Amino acid sequence: MSELKNNERNLGTQEYVFLKGSTNPTTAIDRFKQVIKRTFSKELFVGLKVVFLQMAKGPKSWHTVKYPQEKLPISPRYRAVHKLLRLLESGNERCIGCGLCEKICISKCIRMETRYSENQRKEVSEYTINLGRCIFCGFCAEVCPELAIVHGSRYENASEQRAHFVLKDDMLTPIEMLKNQNEFPGFGALSDDADKKVKKTPLAY
Ligand code: SF4
Ligand code: SF4
Repeated sequence: MSELKNNERNLGTQEYVFLKGSTNPTTAIDRFKQVIKRTFSKELFVGLKVVFLQMAKGPKSWHTVKYPQEKLPISPRYRAVHKLLRLLESGNERCIGCGLCEKICISKCIRMETRYSENQRKEVSEYTINLGRCIFCGFCAEVCPELAIVHGSRYENASEQRAHFVLKDDMLTPIEMLKNQNEFPGFGALSDDADKKVKKTPLAY
């Protein structure tokens, strides 16, 4: 079927319908009447009825929280601002400075410096994450072999200055908090069935 040109279409008896719009009031009394009519339209009372019915049901019917005094619970696997963990027994820093997190970071926002300690052991002297660039993908936490870098639950990381974005000391578990630290369960921790998923290296190859 060939396509009809616009001017060949048979519109039949269809006609435009012109709606009668309201005219602007010209006299003061008409303006006053219009204000009263609009102010006390029945939709206003329908809205008020809904509001008062909800108020009468009490706090149990409320669907909002008073942030920031109240916060909704978040999943333990939520990927918020990073934390650097310590070993529970000794309090030493878990990070061994292997650099895997720095290499895998797709935003290139991890910077670290290592040095030799007095005991000729490698230690991490500086560790920073530029949170202005981090996309919270979780790769760094997943690749860390020591469960040293993990994602905590602090998601409010607004700051007036970029310089306030995470430095090593901000992320590292304070030593006085260590006694309260349980084995980290959130993002970056091993799952309960991790042993089953590990592919053992074949001995003969
Ligand atoms: S969460 Fe992703 S982007 Fe952020 S520091 Fe880790 S690897 Fe980099
Ligand atoms: S945080 Fe983990 S992956 Fe990154 S350097 Fe330290 S031990 Fe290695």
